[in-house]
Amino acid sequence: MTLRLGCIADDYTGASDLANTLQKNGLATVQTIGVPGPSLASSLGAAEAVVVSLKIRSVPAAEAVDKAQAAAAFLRQQGASHILYKICSTFDSTDAGNIGPVLDALAVEGRAVIVTPAFPETGRTVYHGHLFVNGVPLNESPLKDHPLNPMHDANLVRVLQRQTTSRVALANRDLFRKGCGALETALARLAGEGVRGVITDAIDETDLEIIGKAASSMPFSVGASGLGLGLARAMRADARATVDGAKGNGEALSACIAGSCSAATLRQIAAAETIMPVLRLDSAALVSGAPEVERALAFAREAMARGPVLIASSQGPEMVQAVQAQYGRDAAGQAIEHGMARIAAGLVDLGVRHLVVAGGETSGAAVDRLGIKAFRLGPEIAAGVPMMEAIGARHAGLLVALKSGNFGGETFFADALAVMRG
Ligand code: ADP
Repeated sequence: MTLRLGCIADDYTGASDLANTLQKNGLATVQTIGVPGPSLASSLGAAEAVVVSLKIRSVPAAEAVDKAQAAAAFLRQQGASHILYKICSTFDSTDAGNIGPVLDALAVEGRAVIVTPAFPETGRTVYHGHLFVNGVPLNESPLKDHPLNPMHDANLVRVLQRQTTSRVALANRDLFRKGCGALETALARLAGEGVRGVITDAIDETDLEIIGKAASSMPFSVGASGLGLGLARAMRADARATVDGAKGNGEALSACIAGSCSAATLRQIAAAETIMPVLRLDSAALVSGAPEVERALAFAREAMARGPVLIASSQGPEMVQAVQAQYGRDAAGQAIEHGMARIAAGLVDLGVRHLVVAGGETSGAAVDRLGIKAFRLGPEIAAGVPMMEAIGARHAGLLVALKSGNFGGETFFADALAVMRG
């Protein structure tokens, strides 16, 4: 196998979502945290797709461009024939960028670039260039009130045009109803007219397959996981072959940690309480520096010998507000993430080989603390949440599941551990 698809994701959870989609749709996928150093690059050998996770969605445009260019150079050097710049399926960005500036920097001279955030599976569709979120125009959806990037215009041709000095055009569905060839012809014509970004409609998976096929013969595209699905289906060598990926590996010391206070995670913790020992942390003690991490690790050391455990800082809204009122929202959040990350590292030091983490920021803090630089993707545990195996110098072989708060069904913790056992 050789690398075919190189992806650059503008944030970490978007990267995992894309990596999961690529693996599910037939490409053996590795997700890296940042651009890999030389030692890790040599262990990417078996990957057909690599997703480099960056955090550039809301940074100044010049910084986003520099980082995206470095990632693209790495991926091309590894042999990727196509680069996908992975953006949010709600086109999160401001008039200052960063979708337009990165598009301009990575586009190949004289070639038009397919741009589509469509991901019908999660209700994101693009029709006549307008983005709908669960059937509601973007500017009437909850995204109009996004704290960082409020979206007030559903017409993506206009939105993208405000972010770039090059010309933007539309490829609507009518144009490619006759198939991929018609789309390719239109893209070549638009490129000849000096157009660079082409907002491309997609309302279902058939559209994504047509677009993915057209994109796969081009050097660069911009999109969300939906375009990833189309590219993966166009690029997979054999539609029936099973993808080489991480697998469950039998009984092992297992632990779950939860820092998400979402309603879904609170229900999942309650369900876990019926089947494994659960330690609920004192969040104020975690923030004030009392020896709460040590208490958690002592609990785990004793209880893990008999089976999996769960350690949670998660609490309902009233308790969360009380801690935030006392210590400040950001300070409390960061201190608790830091404590949970120390617990994750302590658990792995105790010999844990199956680790489940609930909470997006909590997961990021744990992965950073563990120093893991890349994951090989494995089977999906719940929609959007894959099992992954750490690769590289630190903690190779550790199986992890990282989920953002609202993901997964009620029995998520048990489900994740079952997939890890295989
Ligand atoms: P989600 O994916 O649900 O958003 P995150 O881990 O991204 O979960 O965010 C949860 C935030 O809440 C983190 O900053 C975490 O440290 C913080 N947190 C966790 N437990 C508590 C608590 N008991 N009180 C206040 N904040 C908490």
